[in-house]
Amino acid sequence: MYGNRLIISSILLLFAFFLLGTYSVSASEQDDIYQQRMELYKKTEAVTHIPWYYLAAIDQYERNIRAVRKDLPKPEGIIGIYITPEDWSGKLNPVTDDTNPTRIRFFDGLGADGNGDGRADRNDPEDVLYAIAHYLQQYGPYEKYIRIGLWEYYKRDKTVSLISSFARLYKQYQTLDLNEKHFPLPLHVNYSYRSTWGHARGWGGRRMHEGTDIFSGYGVTVYSTCYGIVEMKGWNRYGGWRIGIRDLNNTYHYFAHLNGFAEGIKVGDIVEPGQPIGYVGSTGYGPPGTSGKFPPHLHYGMYKDDGRTEWSFDPYPHLKKWERETRQKQKR
Ligand SMILES: [Zn+2]
Repeated sequence: MYGNRLIISSILLLFAFFLLGTYSVSASEQDDIYQQRMELYKKTEAVTHIPWYYLAAIDQYERNIRAVRKDLPKPEGIIGIYITPEDWSGKLNPVTDDTNPTRIRFFDGLGADGNGDGRADRNDPEDVLYAIAHYLQQYGPYEKYIRIGLWEYYKRDKTVSLISSFARLYKQYQTLDLNEKHFPLPLHVNYSYRSTWGHARGWGGRRMHEGTDIFSGYGVTVYSTCYGIVEMKGWNRYGGWRIGIRDLNNTYHYFAHLNGFAEGIKVGDIVEPGQPIGYVGSTGYGPPGTSGKFPPHLHYGMYKDDGRTEWSFDPYPHLKKWERETRQKQKR
C-alpha cells in the first residue's frame, strides 16, 4: 500500500514538474516570438518609413482574423499577414505564385523582395512584411495617408479603425506583449455570477442573453478587463449606460447597466487592465436614465470580429480564468 502511494506521489510530482517546465518554455517562447517580430517590424520601418506600430497592427489584425476564419489558411510563420497568390503575383501574371520581383512589378502585384535575396517569396515573413509596407509607402508615411492606403487595401471602415486602434496601443506602450487581463470587479467586494450565456431574455422581445451577469452592489468599481481602446460609450435602452472596449485580439468587451462612468473617460481613450471605467448599477430597460428595474449587476459581454461580421461568445470561462489570475497577481 505504502509503496503504491509513493509511486503515485512521485508520478504526480513528475507530472507537476513537467507542467511547470512546459509552461515556462512556452512563456519564453512567446517572448522570443515577440522579439523576432519586433526586429522585423523595425527593420522594415527603417527601409520604408512606415512606423513599426502600424506594421505590428496590420500583422496582429490579420493574425486575428485568420484564427477565426475558415476560408483563410491558419498563420504558420512569425508574420500573420496573408496575401493571396493572385494579389502577390498580379492578377494578369501568367506565373501563379511568382517569385520574380521584376515580373511581379510588371503585372502590378504586391509581391516584393524584403530580404534582398533576389526573390519575392510569399512564404518569407520578411518579404511579406516589406510588400505591405512598400504598398503603403505609395500613399506616404504619415498616419493620415497610411489610413487611406489601408482603406484602399481592405475596403472596410471597421478594419481600418481596428488597425488604427492597434497601432495606437503599440505606439503608446512600445511593446507587443499586451495580453494581460483583469477581472472586471474588485475581488474583495461581494459579487456572484453564474454561466448564463444563451439564456432567453424577456424584455424588448425575444433576445438571447449575450453575456454574463455579475451581481454586486450599487457603485462598485468596474475595471477594464484588457489593454484596449474605448470604442463606444453611452445609453442604450437595453444596456442602459454602457461602455465598449476593443482589445488586440479583435475582441470587443461590453460593460452594461452602469450607474456611471469613470471621470473623464471617453471614446478613443486607451485603457489598461484594472483601470476603473465605471460603476455597477441597474440602468436600462427604458429611456435614458431609467434605473432600478432589476437588481444591480454588471452585464459583461464579449464579441469577436472576423473582418466581416461580429458575433458574441460566452465570457464565463474567461471571467473564471481572469478571476484566478487577478487573485494570484494580487497575492504577489
Ligand atoms: Zn446580462
